[in-house]
Amino acid sequence: MDELIDKAARIILGSKLTLALTGAGISVESGIPDFRSRGGLWDRFDPEEYATIYAFRKTPEKVWQMLKEMEGIVDKARPNEAHIGLAELERMGLLQCISTQNVDNLHQEAGSRDVIEYHGNSRSLICLWCNKRYDYREKKGEYPPKCECGKILKPDVIFFGEAIPPSAMTRSSQLASTCQALLIIGTSAVVYPFNVLPRQAKQAGAKIIEVNLEKTVLTDHITDIFLHGKASEKVSQVVSAVRELRGL
Ligand code: NAD
Ligand code: ZN
Repeated sequence: MDELIDKAARIILGSKLTLALTGAGISVESGIPDFRSRGGLWDRFDPEEYATIYAFRKTPEKVWQMLKEMEGIVDKARPNEAHIGLAELERMGLLQCISTQNVDNLHQEAGSRDVIEYHGNSRSLICLWCNKRYDYREKKGEYPPKCECGKILKPDVIFFGEAIPPSAMTRSSQLASTCQALLIIGTSAVVYPFNVLPRQAKQAGAKIIEVNLEKTVLTDHITDIFLHGKASEKVSQVVSAVRELRGL
């Protein structure tokens, strides 16, 4: 067994409270491009231009061109081995919660039950003018979807410039500052305030295990074990190692 995988598995087995933080990278192998990689959706729709609340308020029709394409991609995506592995760790009682920046619902589809959606989700739509909410299925195929008051609806995801849902922020911080092990998977850890969570965990004494295709701003500073590679491979290897060490 790979020495780093073995160490990561032992940390998880020895921890009483483990939290996972995930970002767009965990869903790349499911076919959803992340922000930093070249090619695809985000080359045509610069998130700094399209994913801000200012852009949405000003030209919602234009932002919906991007949202429509993103919806098509997310609809086709299925959980990969990394999502499935985390769900399995939860079932084994070895992972207490996932706080994700993703809005793709893939953790829930993989079977994870305790998922904090730090940046909201794309399953509901909200009217910024009258606050009415809709299930996205009610408006399926309508572009741009409109509220009964006539205004264009916004998916309930957090755009740049919007506040994080207070309950998601409070609970993530509380778990980060009390966990004994933290898994950080597929995030560049540059989006504030999500990127505060790894530091909170480190300060509280948690062991930090990071999975990424490349080094991030965290790797040389707070990461204890860097598993360099694809999320699907590394998470599956860790789950297999945990099973082996438990004698399952
Ligand atoms: P990011 O694009 O900034 O970073 C992705 C990270 O994942 C990078 O560090 C990259 O090296 C790594 N990565 C890429 N493929 C990987 C793989 N197969 N295995 C392991 N690591 C891999 O993403 P972020 O940090 O999540 O921040 C971007 C913002 O964009 C977030 O706010 C997120 O909400 C949003 N976003 C969400 C989705 C989604 O819901 N799936 C997709 C794109 C962007
Ligand atoms: Zn309305």
